[in-house]
Amino acid sequence: MESGALTCDQIDELLSDLIEGDLPDAARAGIEAHVAACARCAAAYRSLKRTVRFVRAHAGERFKPGTPGGQYFEFVARLMQDDAEGAQRALLEGIAGITDA
Ligand SMILES: [Zn+2]
Repeated sequence: MESGALTCDQIDELLSDLIEGDLPDAARAGIEAHVAACARCAAAYRSLKRTVRFVRAHAGERFKPGTPGGQYFEFVARLMQDDAEGAQRALLEGIAGITDA
């Protein structure tokens, strides 16, 4: 591996920071260069951007218990708000909903 080059695993972890705009310019440039050259990460980036747009567009909406995908949405929304406890709760409720069904 080239020194300084980012691996796909590292890109996975950095994509959300990139979308949030939390990265210094040097890191951003490295990720953008990788995404431009790597089809796998480009697809992951596009998919994450779609998810983020969807979550932002629907922020604050509540789902009725049992709505398909509702718990996942809640989970992602909490993550976006850096609410790790809320995200974990939503995830656990989602799993409980699956096992209860
Ligand atoms: Zn990659």
